[in-house]
Amino acid sequence: MLRSCRRLATRSLRDQFQFQVQRHQQTAATCSNMDKFDLPKRLQGSTPSVWNEYIALAMQYKPLNLGQGFPDDAAPEYVTHSLADIAKDENPLLHQYTRGYGHVRLVQALSKLYSGLVSKELNPLTDILITSGAYEALYSTIMGHVDVGDEVIIIEPFFDCYEPMVKMAGGVPRFIPLKLRQTEGTGPISSADWVLDDAEFEKLFNSKTKMIILNTPHNPIGKVFNRKELERIAELCRKWNVLCVSDEVYEWLVFDGAEHIRICTLPGMWDRTITLGSAGKTFSVTGWKIGWAYGPAQLIRNLQMVHQNSVYTCPTPLQEGVARSFEVELARLGKPESYFLSLPRELKQKRDYMAKFLSDAGMRPTIPEGGYFMLADWSPLADKVDLSSEPDKHRDYKFTKWMTKNMGLQGIPPSAFYSEPNKPLGEDFVRYCFIKKQENLDKAAELLAKWK
Ligand code: PMP
Ligand code: GLN
Repeated sequence: MLRSCRRLATRSLRDQFQFQVQRHQQTAATCSNMDKFDLPKRLQGSTPSVWNEYIALAMQYKPLNLGQGFPDDAAPEYVTHSLADIAKDENPLLHQYTRGYGHVRLVQALSKLYSGLVSKELNPLTDILITSGAYEALYSTIMGHVDVGDEVIIIEPFFDCYEPMVKMAGGVPRFIPLKLRQTEGTGPISSADWVLDDAEFEKLFNSKTKMIILNTPHNPIGKVFNRKELERIAELCRKWNVLCVSDEVYEWLVFDGAEHIRICTLPGMWDRTITLGSAGKTFSVTGWKIGWAYGPAQLIRNLQMVHQNSVYTCPTPLQEGVARSFEVELARLGKPESYFLSLPRELKQKRDYMAKFLSDAGMRPTIPEGGYFMLADWSPLADKVDLSSEPDKHRDYKFTKWMTKNMGLQGIPPSAFYSEPNKPLGEDFVRYCFIKKQENLDKAAELLAKWK
């Protein structure tokens, strides 16, 4: 008995030693093989996005945050209260999985809304997909349509996830920047002054072009593409048999009589357009992360194939809440009390207020025709800032970080919205968000006025 115990103890000591040796060998092997766990090729070159970087910066320095785009005031009561009603609803199924391609009540509401807006009867079950925000609508569209080697035209500046999504799908992004046309003097610029060079644009299209991504109203410029511009894009799409992805998340936010035109309504475009929307922007609830894509069934089908095996279905209570909110708005569409009219009315005042305080501070703003962002040229203030301690490569990153740390005001560096070679085009600018409480806009105005 004693002998066997001793043998056991010895074995266990030996085992322990062997175990340690093995672990050491494994660790050494793991270290030398760590590159096995690098980012896969399709993700290589990825770094944390401007959102992740600037949210961390805001958490550290606690500036007045006019950077990331979200309203800091309450959303309409009937929208937020719908969630409370849903929580208390006696139907237990409102807390279970719902139809994968979209909660029926929501796709029905969207079909009612958009059938009227695009003058085409949308089949709620085949022509609409509900997604996890417009982000997932973009993801499912790009993954579901772009093949390895396909070229995708992206207009710069662009919402930053377009480029990495195209690359993830094995596609080849082809960029074209909107350029500021010559304007008189040093006063404010209109977002309509940012235009595409037609010859350069036409040259981008070829037999490998699969897709163009359009964003109107535009983030970050606020440009609302006019009919002539959209007709030209449509003409080239038809000529080269190209799919148009139209990111219209700011579709209700247009000012000064600018008209939001859905490119899918232009001749020959319905069959080649996928249009994207977002409940976050429509009802000022960016945290709900409900979005959608609509278009002809044969195009939407590809998105469904991606969605069903990645996200499968979006949260039922949130889809139900968005459906109920749309039902409220459908009943008062076009009437003065419609949120789709009252929100832009309210925002226009904030826009004008911001344009004034930025101009007074010496910046040169671009007055947006739509959306809730404003670009401002900060270069006239260059001699008031010492950017030498900021290690970033691009001047707009240096400027926005310096402002966050020294002035307590955060904006977004627009070079994040350009491809690597074109980043210098964004360096003279900063993007501010104006869907903020008046008291916060007042604080920003004060900060800048004192600085002056
Ligand atoms: N497209 C654009 C142009 C955006 O600004 C955003 C930001 N919200 C999105 C898509 C993504 O929208 P969501 O929050 O609904 O995912
Ligand atoms: N669309 C918003 C913006 O442009 C938010 C983007 C994000 O947080 N990923 O600010």
